Amino acid sequence: MKVSVVIPCYNEQDSLPELFERLEAVLAEMKVDYEYIFVDDGSTDRTVAVLRSLRERSPRVGVISFRRNYGKSAALNEGFRAASGDLIVTIDADLQDDPAEIPNLMKRIDAGADLVSGWKTNRQDPISKTLPSRVFNRVTSMVTGVKLHDFNCGFKLYRREVADAITVYGELHRFIPALAAWEGFRVEEIRVRHNRRKYGKSKYGARRFLNGFFDLITTMFVTRRALNPLHFFGRIALALFLVGLAPQIYFLIHWLAGNGLRVRPIMLLGFVLIIVSIQVASIGLLAELISARAARDAVYAFKEYDVRGERAPRAVRSHIA
Ligand code: UDP
Ligand code: MG
Repeated sequence: MKVSVVIPCYNEQDSLPELFERLEAVLAEMKVDYEYIFVDDGSTDRTVAVLRSLRERSPRVGVISFRRNYGKSAALNEGFRAASGDLIVTIDADLQDDPAEIPNLMKRIDAGADLVSGWKTNRQDPISKTLPSRVFNRVTSMVTGVKLHDFNCGFKLYRREVADAITVYGELHRFIPALAAWEGFRVEEIRVRHNRRKYGKSKYGARRFLNGFFDLITTMFVTRRALNPLHFFGRIALALFLVGLAPQIYFLIHWLAGNGLRVRPIMLLGFVLIIVSIQVASIGLLAELISARAARDAVYAFKEYDVRGERAPRAVRSHIA
């Protein structure tokens, strides 16, 4: 059993040495094989130098460094690809999460969970962040149907299959629990302690939450597991079309009955709705064509993959023994 610890770092030079010590203490206790994947997300401080010195100290340390700041999702995604463990821990570099909780997360994996996510119950952040975050979590939970309190906690433990099955970019890391749940994985949550930031600054402000809602829509479409574009746009188009058609039918009957016709406002509204409905349907169709292409490279999560013969899809080859 091997554990990979993936740590996204963006300008965290002061936190890293202490984080490393604390992780070492916890992991040594656990009697498992382990490795670190530090992903420097284009830091402009001495983060890379600090990481190099950690690498010199321990053969378990791996360092990936981006040329520029691509965001936490990109850092995590790259860390997942590089990790060789059966289990993957992600933890923020800023010491706000406590490595001592890793064994607690592990217990839930042993009990059958595929992804265990931290829930910062005593969140140590300013209200300007905790309040929007609460709204965000509520809405995300409602819309995605995944019952969690804290989607955005950086502290998580994954079975490797979960990390293999999902791809995150931009700001989509906030939806990892939903992405995993849609792939059929068992997602659970446990309460974790949360500490105030000791060094450095937070990289995210309250502004991120507006983008969060756009990302929510993206996630639901891009994965196709939650929303199918043509099913979604098609329904809207159909509703608009029917509403637009109703007055036209009324006026047609009126006319057939021998009455003269005049242009009426409601008639115009009906025409507009019909035209819009055709546009909405076309957008849905386009989106469907695009996602049909993307589906060719789709990665599926398997419970069992045991077939006779040689061929296995690229994505699963790695964990077929
Ligand atoms: N982070 C990153 N790239 C970024 C922003 C943040 O890798 O563009 C890392 C950061 O170094 C930290 C974690 O993501 O380890 C969480 O960031 P932060 O503590 O700033 O977020 P907050 O806890 O304030 O939500
Ligand atoms: Mg933080």
